[in-house]
Amino acid sequence: MRLEHRLVSLLAALSASACIPDPGPNGLVVDFTSGSFDLASFANARGASSTFDPRGATRVAYSSAGPHEFTGVEAPGPWDLSRSDLFALDVGFDTTTTLTRIVVFFCFDEGDRFDNYASQGDLLVGVAKPRRLNVPIPRASLEVHGTANWANVKRVEIRLVPIEEGADHPDAMYLYGLIANVSSRPQVILAFDDGNASVYALAYPLMSAARIPGTLYLNGHSIGDTPTKMTLRQVRELYAAGWDVANHTIDHSRLTQPGMIERSDSTATFTVNNPSVDAIEVHRGDLLRIQGADQPEYDGPQVVTGVIGETAFTFRVAGTPRAAATGWISTPLLQADVIRSKIVQQTEWMLQNGFTRALEHFAYPQGYFDDEVVGVLRDLGFKTARTVNVEPFSTFIWPNYSGLADPYHIPALTLFSATRSASVLADVDAAIAVGASLHIYGHGVADAPASTEEMPTAEFAALVDGLRSRRDAGLLDVETISTWRSARTP
Ligand SMILES: [Zn+2]
Repeated sequence: MRLEHRLVSLLAALSASACIPDPGPNGLVVDFTSGSFDLASFANARGASSTFDPRGATRVAYSSAGPHEFTGVEAPGPWDLSRSDLFALDVGFDTTTTLTRIVVFFCFDEGDRFDNYASQGDLLVGVAKPRRLNVPIPRASLEVHGTANWANVKRVEIRLVPIEEGADHPDAMYLYGLIANVSSRPQVILAFDDGNASVYALAYPLMSAARIPGTLYLNGHSIGDTPTKMTLRQVRELYAAGWDVANHTIDHSRLTQPGMIERSDSTATFTVNNPSVDAIEVHRGDLLRIQGADQPEYDGPQVVTGVIGETAFTFRVAGTPRAAATGWISTPLLQADVIRSKIVQQTEWMLQNGFTRALEHFAYPQGYFDDEVVGVLRDLGFKTARTVNVEPFSTFIWPNYSGLADPYHIPALTLFSATRSASVLADVDAAIAVGASLHIYGHGVADAPASTEEMPTAEFAALVDGLRSRRDAGLLDVETISTWRSARTP
């Protein structure tokens, strides 16, 4: 399994943790998580069910006894959705099975009548289903039967339907909410991490000529440190030109450590997933907290029983010994107070240098996070935190309302040396089609890239040009992280 796949599995496993529905200044959330209103579950055949689940969502599942044509829930209104040309369904799944689709009905009649309604019947057909995502539903994509009355929607029905009749369909659907009245103007955020010198030398002139501001996620300790990094004067120039300077920790410390666990009898071995880079600073007897494992017996506090070189350690596992198992976990290398210090020191660096516009915005070094890191950011008052996103999951993590449902797990499209402007612009066009936000980030630009992290200058120029022409055509806005977020805060 490739490293990126492992990382994404980890991110996917963790992404269900925190949720702050944020539909924007005029937004409305039909909330399926509170259980505070009467969700009527239904099914046309025996065995289907919907329950309020400990995961914090309404769980809709088939039983193994079929066949069923559909199962689902209805949420009673009425709602005024007349200002909404776009909806987002906040939904998750247990498995990536592709045997089901989602059908949404907006009903304009009382009771069970289906005379006047609008529906969309092909949501999530043929795509792998992640643990959680926002599915965009443009109003224009809905098929209207009878007469629509968007100012008085009487109820919403959401159904889980097998793609093939009689197929085995083990899906369970978790409904978090239906977000309405969101902005339909797509926004692109173009960011660079780590403050590399080529951003000033090559990216900035191109973006400046196109009147496109960028966002820098910086580490104060490295600014001006070496010829490969920007100087403080250069960062000041970009900030004065409208670029945001946001937090990426003072020294690029990884705030959590993903790795693989293999079990043998009652002992498990944890191995970091990039041993050429990372050493484990733990000792025998240390207490570590493991979270995000795909098998529950590994979650929670664990005592280190042995250290194997610099890249692995062992711990005992409770329960019945069994065959070796593999899972992905995240264990903090750093204590919460150290995590906090790495972030706060960067905030202080930003304050000292007058970079105040984007103080509340963060990007996880190397994209790694866990619940403890998110908790520290929340506690410090951060409003967004951006992670990374890699194939193949990006094809279904987005297009979505990146960061609307969960501002601490904003995914972003990465610019590599092999990335071509045409593929990025295809994603931009997909965002335009559904009114989604798209976060793009890179590390640098080079005429002849010497590292996979540098995008070829010609390709980056074509990307900037594509963004400029779409912006000038009124199709999208290119924003910095602070303006993007402030547009979404009441
Ligand atoms: Zn970085």
